Amino acid sequence: MNIILLGPPGAGKGTQARHLVETRGMVQLSTGDMLREAKDSGTDMGNRVAEVMARGDLVTDEIVIGLIREKLHGDTGAGIIFDGFPRTLKQATALKELMDEEGKSLDAVIELRVRDEVLVERIAGRSTCGNCGEVYHDVTKPQPADGKCERCGAADFRRRADDNEESLRNRLMEYYKKTSPLLGYYYAHDLLKRVDGLAEIKVVQASIEAILDA
Ligand code: AMP
Repeated sequence: MNIILLGPPGAGKGTQARHLVETRGMVQLSTGDMLREAKDSGTDMGNRVAEVMARGDLVTDEIVIGLIREKLHGDTGAGIIFDGFPRTLKQATALKELMDEEGKSLDAVIELRVRDEVLVERIAGRSTCGNCGEVYHDVTKPQPADGKCERCGAADFRRRADDNEESLRNRLMEYYKKTSPLLGYYYAHDLLKRVDGLAEIKVVQASIEAILDA
């Protein structure tokens, strides 16, 4: 099964994708993670996109399509979860072509719906474990008092450079202008499913699993 998780920053795409990786052996393809890795390892491309990402703008379609193209060849386990890709109509049509070339297809596009004010709260307090990606929140899930990740034990908590109010405002604008048209696109392809992203994490998990099992 190959699915897209679609929704604004902070909707819970990464958290839900990780759950599906653990429970179903699916493969998470997050262009945001790939770009951050490129930035951290100081590659040419990483250096070029760092400023764009910090501002909360989208990087070029060519770059992210190139990143996804490389990953579609390999072993895609029990299926792919596209997390943060596609974000533009051009990326969506490129994805269709790449999937066709690989003899793969999309089974569902799941929209996580969350109100803007909740996104701001979620993102403002967010940190992640640099080792395993576990997500923490200052209010709802504080980092453990012993300073070690509850999942993997690493002491490497990170806050994203773009998780600040100004950048978030820009990321939301980018989402509404460039990504939300994909909702209509996938609705027309009869792939769109909607999930209430405001519900508890486990409830959202169950809704997504029900869609995958249907
Ligand atoms: P994310 O981790 O998905 O929130 O992405 C973080 C940042 O990476 C975004 O704000 C963009 O600057 C960039 N990015 C990630 N995925 C894409 C994409 N599919 N298209 C364009 N830019 C992207």
